[in-house]
Amino acid sequence: MREKQVLPVAVVGLTAALVAVVALWTLDRAGTSDQVVVTSDGPAQAIEWKLVTTWPKGLPGLGAAPENFARRVNEASGGRLRIKVFGAGEIVPAFEVFDAVSQGVAEAGHGASYYWKGKIPASVFYTAVPFGMTAQEANGWLHYGGGLQLWHELYAPFGVVPFAGGSTGVQMAGWFNIRLNNREDLNGLKMRIPGLAGEVFDAAGGSAVRIAGGEVYTSMQTGVIDAVEWVGPYNDRTLGLMEVGDYYYYPGWHEPGAMLEIIVNADALAALPADLQAIVRVAARATNTDMLDDFTAHNSESLQILLTDFDTEVLPLPDDIMDALYDSSQVAIQSLVESDPMARKIADSYFDFAERVRTYHEISERAYLNGRDRLLPPVTLTAE
Ligand code: CA
Repeated sequence: MREKQVLPVAVVGLTAALVAVVALWTLDRAGTSDQVVVTSDGPAQAIEWKLVTTWPKGLPGLGAAPENFARRVNEASGGRLRIKVFGAGEIVPAFEVFDAVSQGVAEAGHGASYYWKGKIPASVFYTAVPFGMTAQEANGWLHYGGGLQLWHELYAPFGVVPFAGGSTGVQMAGWFNIRLNNREDLNGLKMRIPGLAGEVFDAAGGSAVRIAGGEVYTSMQTGVIDAVEWVGPYNDRTLGLMEVGDYYYYPGWHEPGAMLEIIVNADALAALPADLQAIVRVAARATNTDMLDDFTAHNSESLQILLTDFDTEVLPLPDDIMDALYDSSQVAIQSLVESDPMARKIADSYFDFAERVRTYHEISERAYLNGRDRLLPPVTLTAE
């Protein structure tokens, strides 16, 4: 009797489970039906990618670039490739973005290549080289001087495909809570300054600290650090750094044309049809250009606000400190290229291009700016 009772119960249970599975499947189909796109060629199932970033979610400027990239891909593909952007910490912490893309946890990422220098020393060339090229120059090297091919070669062992993902232009040297007079003032100074520049800062007597963007304000406020470089007026104002830093120094010797990166899992990219791969490439290129436009417009706007609304004291780094940082940068770059064959290969390409473009810019960009400034009223860096 006992067995006869058990059997119907089991059948009812199995039937109920089957009904539930079918119902869930139907619900799931209904829930995702808007993701099935009908094109002139017929219906196509949408592909969904996750894009993880090293930026706090919603950060203007740096954080806007991955959002814009995702929107461009979504629009240009007619919804066939949908990219959802996640801020730092939502899926992985900021400094695990590269590994997440490499391992396929996310199909794409946006961040700064020099965050991976512990794993890939030569990656620093793809964010910023102290006293190196400006954004305009670096973009020329990347896209017409062989830089991008070398970058692909650098990331290939990790199954990651890089693209230029924006540039901030020349950054600011940063916010300091002491007034700088000469190189001795750098001794023991704790500063948030990543990448190769961090090593340069150490060699010049300071103490570089690695802190993600979401934590720099608190670190300055609590005195964990004495100085911080972040980006420039636009993004520094967003983080409220004028509230925790006393002096705002320029120029960004360490990041003269800081580049960002869009990285894509190589297998995920290869799995796309050719037209969607092209859309990814074109959207990345558009994002790269657009970000520099964004920073050019909003840095100048934010600088005026810092000067007029916050009475920010904007000062040039003393020559003695620039000299010390330059000397240290040459030592750090030499040490890098001697320790890593790929860094040597990329450095040869980078500095060869840099020297040629510097010669041209002497008679183009610099000559023009000098000529213009001779005719216009002097620039003032104080509140009007
Ligand atoms: Ca920076």
